[in-house]
Amino acid sequence: MDINSFKIEDFYVESLGETKVESPLYKSYSGTEIVKEFVKDDQRVLYDASLESFKKAMESGNEPISFEKAGPRKDLFFNPANTKAAIVTCGGLCPGLNNVIRSLVMGLYYRYGVKNIVGIPYGYQGLNPEYGHKFINLTPEVVKDIHLFGGSILGSSRGRQDISMMVDTLERNNINMLFTIGGDGTLAGNYVIAEEIERRGLKIALAGLPKTIDNDVNFIQKTFGFETAFTTAAPILRDAHNEATGAYNGIAIVKLMGRDSGFIAATAALAMPDVNFVLVPENEFELKGENGFLNSLKQRVMERNHALVVVAEGAGQNLFTGGDVVKDASGNIKHKDIGLLLKDEIGAFFKEQGMEATVKYIDPSYIIRSEPANPSDSIFCTSLAMNAIHGAMAGKTGFVVGRWNNVFTYLPIPVATKTRKKIDVNGELWWSVLESTGQPMNMK
Ligand code: ATP
Ligand code: MG
Repeated sequence: MDINSFKIEDFYVESLGETKVESPLYKSYSGTEIVKEFVKDDQRVLYDASLESFKKAMESGNEPISFEKAGPRKDLFFNPANTKAAIVTCGGLCPGLNNVIRSLVMGLYYRYGVKNIVGIPYGYQGLNPEYGHKFINLTPEVVKDIHLFGGSILGSSRGRQDISMMVDTLERNNINMLFTIGGDGTLAGNYVIAEEIERRGLKIALAGLPKTIDNDVNFIQKTFGFETAFTTAAPILRDAHNEATGAYNGIAIVKLMGRDSGFIAATAALAMPDVNFVLVPENEFELKGENGFLNSLKQRVMERNHALVVVAEGAGQNLFTGGDVVKDASGNIKHKDIGLLLKDEIGAFFKEQGMEATVKYIDPSYIIRSEPANPSDSIFCTSLAMNAIHGAMAGKTGFVVGRWNNVFTYLPIPVATKTRKKIDVNGELWWSVLESTGQPMNMK
């Protein structure tokens, strides 16, 4: 990602209009005024917090890139008593979806007094009347226990729906704010809905919550579900390591999620440092040849008589030749199964080398993504939800809640979805992986 391809204005969040309603958070329970942590719209968080960059900006007189600070606003656009909110979850499952839904409902209901909240079933499909999915009334009673379960109580879907028709549905149902919980696709959908709303002169706020287990959203240091994902993967790697050491020349391969970005594989490998090879989409490798992966694996097995390999689902796609490109309903390319390819190639290679080897292949992807959120993600989901509510109540729209240098932010969706966040193979994370695994920098 090249920061120079962005302009300062790209980072300014749009808003529906003047904020004339005093926030109910402004008065304490006893009616006395409290100095809460109200945030003003011009409070901003620096993109690059280094002193060098700050000095450079001061010298040049150019304002540095920054993000709007999230948090409660003293003045709101919407009057809570007349506000109807809707929530939708789209794309693949991810730990924490139910936590976010619960926190949105609780925050809207108890903190702001918004009592009219509906859940849209099965992703954007739920906004298409042709499917006949009925909205679900969401109250504290309905959501109080849902954080105990993985998945999404609203269900999800992939596949594009007609934008105009979705806006018709929002309008017909008098919805004032829509919270979309999803990844890059969902956020892109959120933004085109927001554009159509603006075109029609409607006042409906569109707020996004960044769900991606892959942690691949730009300008957001952590998305919800990611931490649960690598935390769940870590003991699986431990067990896979036990499998590998349990056989002479035992080789265990674990495939983890990571369609275009290998953050789960890299981070899980740091959490369980028995891993010897991490294969990610960002670092292309070859199987064959003197410096290829198979030779490196052979060296490792000869030295220690076992090896643990972690592979992200999008790694090694260059190794597949021919075959049609297959896409899912949302148009995402379905990757070929690198785990199975590795299993077969490793088995064949060791046979060819006349070496005994036992290869075990483990794919826990779907178990991981349907886990309930861990305690850290639970806390994170609640904060994301509260900040999404604060933003939407203040009339902000077409935004996603982010996190940068430990501060919650509001980002205009186009900057977050312009490119995908990837591991920098010259950066600290990847260097830590190389140090931990001892794998060669280059396997080509
Ligand atoms: P993940 O890929 O992490 O599971 P995602 O949100 O990227 O999550 P997708 O299935 O790609 O999941 O997209 C979610 C929904 O958003 C789908 O219904 C998809 O059709 C819709 N969508 C994606 N891009 C757009 C777009 N540009 N305009 C309208 N709708 C879109
Ligand atoms: Mg996606």
